[in-house]
Amino acid sequence: MYTCSIERMSDKIRTFSRYGDAGHGGVTRYSLSEESIQARDEFVRRMTAIGAVIEYDDLANIYATLPGTDENAKRIAMGSHCDSVKNGGNYDGILGVMSAMEVLETVAAEKIPHKHPLTAMIFTNEEGAEFPPCMMCSGIMAHDYMPERFRDNFAYDKMMKSVSIVDCKTTFGEKLAGFKYKGDAANRMSPEKYEALFETHIEQGPILEDAGKDIGVVTCVLGQMLYRVRFTGFAAHAGTFPMKKRHDAFHAAAEALCWLHEEIDKLQQDDLVYTTGEVVIHPCVNTVIPDFFDFSIDVRHEDPDVLDKVREILMELPKRKWQQCDCEVVLGWNRDTVYWNKTLVGYVREAAEELGYSHMDINSGAGHDAQYISYMIPTTMIFAPSEKGLSHCEAEHTSDELCTKAASVMLNAVLKCDASGI
Ligand SMILES: [Zn+2]
Repeated sequence: MYTCSIERMSDKIRTFSRYGDAGHGGVTRYSLSEESIQARDEFVRRMTAIGAVIEYDDLANIYATLPGTDENAKRIAMGSHCDSVKNGGNYDGILGVMSAMEVLETVAAEKIPHKHPLTAMIFTNEEGAEFPPCMMCSGIMAHDYMPERFRDNFAYDKMMKSVSIVDCKTTFGEKLAGFKYKGDAANRMSPEKYEALFETHIEQGPILEDAGKDIGVVTCVLGQMLYRVRFTGFAAHAGTFPMKKRHDAFHAAAEALCWLHEEIDKLQQDDLVYTTGEVVIHPCVNTVIPDFFDFSIDVRHEDPDVLDKVREILMELPKRKWQQCDCEVVLGWNRDTVYWNKTLVGYVREAAEELGYSHMDINSGAGHDAQYISYMIPTTMIFAPSEKGLSHCEAEHTSDELCTKAASVMLNAVLKCDASGI
């Protein structure tokens, strides 16, 4: 068994944390930003130093490849994203990039024999923090391979028109056109050139830490559906209009949301998670009774039957009157549960076992680039624990030791894939 270097890993963690340093322990590093160029420059510098060949594609995804001994073998890729949410942490995404780099650096330093070319990569715009949606560029690359019903979500032309939510003007396509690392579409990841993808990521939840495990052997990404629930009443003066005559859209939404929680909880599904994280209220004036209220509800579970049951509850809403307001339920988007390739999952589990690291099987409630790539080539993921389960915030933390362990598991799982195939 081979192990990665904690010194090298620590150095990468400290170095990448500087690119987009927001001043309180975390980073703001939007995709295609100056900070994301700095991170790519660092990636290129370190990968060139070990003799890797650098390529970038038309979406600014970037690839560093160490050749293998078999000239006809396809590449085994490892990677994740280097963009962050606003005031995000030093691990989400970038840990997968640093782990992939660490694997190649270990292979180069210890002259580990391998047949397949090994590629470390960075996916562009996973967070969609400035240009929605999330996982944009893995979605574009996998577009032709994903089920028909999801394709429209990632149509190339539509993605290029995604408007910055920071300046409300620049499109993704415009920003990409002048980007330092925009390259050739022929360099995109494809089933013709790539055998498999491994993505190491922080768990972003508390399950591994609570269970006292060092490694999460990820088996799937949970199915997810997003609905918008909209209430329409009418606006009137807050001081003069009697309570009984009001059609208050906010009051309606508040009652409906409480009812939803009660009904969904009756399903008694411990693994079911659902969240209202975004609301729109009109006119949002303290002297006006709101005439419009819209809230999101994001629901995730492995079993499609459970999601169907929640969908039935949601569809009950418009049949009832809520504070004399009309109610409409609209599908935002949905995706199926994606299971990782069983052989690759087995390699990850064996690698953790043989290294003597404590591990457990786990699913991912968050979306990742690997889930779209899995429509194209076999993929799998490795999780490192997140301290206190915190993520998408500056307090996000995983020790250098645990980051290095995750990289070591990926290294050995990749070598198993190299030796035995899929
Ligand atoms: Zn991520």
